[in-house]
Amino acid sequence: MELYEEVVKIKEAFRKVKKDVVFLSESMFTTEQNTDRKFRELSEEIEMLKSKLANIEGKETTKEEEIVGNSLSLKFHLSSCPYAKKISNENIEHFQSIHDALTKGFQSCACVRDN
Ligand SMILES: [Zn+2]
Repeated sequence: MELYEEVVKIKEAFRKVKKDVVFLSESMFTTEQNTDRKFRELSEEIEMLKSKLANIEGKETTKEEEIVGNSLSLKFHLSSCPYAKKISNENIEHFQSIHDALTKGFQSCACVRDN
């Protein structure tokens, strides 16, 4: 009788341990999955920011293209834009960069955004 009770106790203890192990391995699995997902999301975000940065740097350092603004319309263009060529000499403004034009209150033409 005593032996039987002991066996029951041991069985019960094993069942509890088994439940804990299952719970732990499940939560470890979810944590791993979440970490993987977060990592992937962050990697994608970094790649996106990198390409954005390359894009911006490319725009700012393209020396053949000048940034010119129309002081009447307060729009700025790449010098290759057809609108840029129509700006008269008295209304034309020259900018160092897109950032320069933006800080002076000019808005970008589609030619800047699409390039
Ligand atoms: Zn334009």
